[in-house]
Amino acid sequence: MTTTPPGADIAPLMPTYAPNDVTFVRGEGSRLVDVDGKAYLDFLGGLAVTGLGHAHPAVAAAIAEAAGTLLHVSNLYRSVPGPKVAAVLDELLGGGGKVFFTNSGAEANECAIKLARRWGGRGRHVVVSAFGSFHGRTLATLHATGQPGKHEAFQPLPEGFRHVAWQDVDALEAAIDPSVVAVLLEPVQGEGGVHPATAEYFAAVRALCDERNLLFLVDEVQTGLGRTGAWFAHQDLGVRPDVVTIAKALGNGMPIGACWARAEVADSFRPGDHGTTYGGQPLAASAALAVLETMRAEDVPARARRAGERLRAALEALDGVVAVRGRGLLLGVELAPGLDARAVAAAALDGGLVVNPVTADTIRLAPSLLVTDDEVDEAVALLGTALAAVAAVATTPDEEPA
Ligand code: PLP
Repeated sequence: MTTTPPGADIAPLMPTYAPNDVTFVRGEGSRLVDVDGKAYLDFLGGLAVTGLGHAHPAVAAAIAEAAGTLLHVSNLYRSVPGPKVAAVLDELLGGGGKVFFTNSGAEANECAIKLARRWGGRGRHVVVSAFGSFHGRTLATLHATGQPGKHEAFQPLPEGFRHVAWQDVDALEAAIDPSVVAVLLEPVQGEGGVHPATAEYFAAVRALCDERNLLFLVDEVQTGLGRTGAWFAHQDLGVRPDVVTIAKALGNGMPIGACWARAEVADSFRPGDHGTTYGGQPLAASAALAVLETMRAEDVPARARRAGERLRAALEALDGVVAVRGRGLLLGVELAPGLDARAVAAAALDGGLVVNPVTADTIRLAPSLLVTDDEVDEAVALLGTALAAVAAVATTPDEEPA
């Protein structure tokens, strides 16, 4: 039991989360410290958000500078440095596109869905996505999310979404009729359990979209900006999407997302078609610019590739691990039958390692892209200890009643 400091009692919050009984108060790089002074190695990165680790000095300085200069003016006026951030994102995505800024990943996907409908015109509005996907919690992105269990309590959901089996091109082809305007996929299904798409699948989807005049929307909210070992995961899959959505790592914790589209698609929007009060404001954009400049200077895709290989190899050698899925530094560790991911994550937290039980049998790892070799080795050792502790309990026969 850890201390609950003043202000951390969750009673006033809506019960949408059941948070762990730990209150973090400070972070630096890959380390977190709780209210009792206990240190943790953070291998979740705030759900793949803090790609540069906690309290990165360049990002902190940019936020402080913006906070003392100009936070916000609205999109009715020009401001800096939003357009510069858009230009860098466009360059990283290969050029020829335009950006709309949002405050979250779900909003970036909302923008992509509205843009696809605007591009398709009346009667062509259906977006096909995959079972097991996750695209957000707004009503439309919840319906795009291919997890029917999450839909039920909120029916009826907005019309215009259809789901097909993941990595099944025939199923996708069968789902396409004249009402379909776009296909929306993650390059690695993150929340669904860390399931990477194959290059063959993405190539076939691209070809199908070209043949049927559909937009290919790629949700890089979790995978984007170096995490998988490329600037964007689709780049390793050899396709060029029409629309890419980005969020999490873009602000390193400052809430900002983006929807990029190639210019001919982006120009379907007219003034007044879409909007946001905060999106692209100076505070969030300043953080994003510092993030992108630091990521480039550090060559984070190369670092994620290298650290990811070390991490994967060490995880594969652990007792209790049957497979390691994912790319770069977005990894899913599939546990042996009988090992409950929630129990393993809880034991890891106890031992000072932050990880996430993304499904009943899989632990998700998404550490800082600047993680060191020593931190990788330490995390694997801590996870090994947690696995052994849970395995020992799982195999201890129940005591006979006296
Ligand atoms: N898309 C993907 C692939 C995600 O992983 C997430 C969040 O986990 C979202 C969209 C939603 O992003 P947000 O929680 O910022 O709305």
